[in-house]
Amino acid sequence: MIPTVSPDQFNAARKQRTTVSPPSAATARTLQPFDSNLQPIIEKVTSGIRLTAGDGLLLYNTPDIWTVCELAHLVRTRLHGDTVFFNINRHINYSNVCALSCTFCSFYRKKDDDGAYQFELEEIIKQAGEAERAGATELHIVGGLHPWLKFDYYLDMLRAIRQTAPRLHIKAFTAVEIVHFARIAGRARDGYEGIKSVLADLRDAGLGSLPGGGAEVFDDRVHDEAFKGKIKAGKWLEVHRAAHELGMNSNATMLYGHIESRADRIQHMITLREQQDRALHDWAHRNNISLQENDAVVLTGPDESYTTARLPSPFESAAGCEGIPSSAEGYFQTIIPLPFIPDDSALQKLPGPSGMENLRTLAISRLMLDNFPHVKAFWIMQTLEMAQYMLTSGADDIDGTVVWYDITKVGGTTTHQETTIWDLQRAIRECGLTPVERDTLYRPITRTGADWQLA
Ligand code: SF4
Repeated sequence: MIPTVSPDQFNAARKQRTTVSPPSAATARTLQPFDSNLQPIIEKVTSGIRLTAGDGLLLYNTPDIWTVCELAHLVRTRLHGDTVFFNINRHINYSNVCALSCTFCSFYRKKDDDGAYQFELEEIIKQAGEAERAGATELHIVGGLHPWLKFDYYLDMLRAIRQTAPRLHIKAFTAVEIVHFARIAGRARDGYEGIKSVLADLRDAGLGSLPGGGAEVFDDRVHDEAFKGKIKAGKWLEVHRAAHELGMNSNATMLYGHIESRADRIQHMITLREQQDRALHDWAHRNNISLQENDAVVLTGPDESYTTARLPSPFESAAGCEGIPSSAEGYFQTIIPLPFIPDDSALQKLPGPSGMENLRTLAISRLMLDNFPHVKAFWIMQTLEMAQYMLTSGADDIDGTVVWYDITKVGGTTTHQETTIWDLQRAIRECGLTPVERDTLYRPITRTGADWQLA
């Protein structure tokens, strides 16, 4: 049963709080929630005990959203102190031509539609060179499922970028693109091994890691109604498992606020959490670290900091090869909650999630995904202003300068979205936090103009 409160009662209770932001572990133990139903969850979080699906739903249903946000901020502070990561990156959307027609997507075009495009390799190489000269550390490359391009186009693209801009980390291709590549490479019939061999070829050509897109919401009903034809949860997870087994890191997303329920979102988070447990067990095994069999790997407890205990420290990794992950990795780095933006999609009659729902969903992601090192406030979909609130509600990463992003356009704007390093740093400092530039693998960067080094 959800307690009902008036806005006055709620605000009065907020003012009586003794905690300040950012809370330390000690102050959080004295945190007094307005909704007493949250007390057991606070105790679990401060003790590093994993939350259940029921806890997740309670976090969604409580009117005490500020306690949820403060609790998430406690967790991010325990993991990362007052650091907020950002990077200098550039997106390349090589083509918007897609064989599918997902109802939430405003990006895709059919081949002869107005606005359909496909970059020649020369154009991609030119953009990669410009990005490297401008000081970017990462290229983020995704596109539609082009019906006629051959697998060699993608391998040639990676090799050419690697040759032109060897310092750029290439984070590219969502899981649905990888499955598409397995089909066009004639390896779909080989199932998991076919996917793995495609990923191995891409890695050998220069792929550094996978972005988290295409996960949407792991639920068959939602899949069949909103993105039938796209891969289901099992296949998305298979692609990321194969990438992890090959030593590549990846990210994960959740596109929410359309036709899914809050319970669907919680289940999505739990599914990701279970897969991350397996990836971290494998990582520990490869690194001769003993974990209990079937043990949940909770990184967010009071005594378990991934930078000192169970996961490789970004500082330790700094000795590795620039741009290319070491073979000792292979897990999810970051969860990126993505709000559904209805403009120009087949679901534009839906309102999309509110700002408070976005804030709450990000905070709950931090609390439920206790084995994900990072939570990203993807400013380009959340807006930079909203992302600032998120930095004190569980997020430790604000993404990058972007330069070109064509997948969604907030408010239907026709201008491509980008920002500057100074805007990002100012946004972070205004929250009382410290900006730290990172590379794709969360290794800190020092920089003089366009010249950068691993710290
Ligand atoms: S979401 Fe991806 S797969 Fe679906 S229509 Fe858009 S580009 Fe194609």
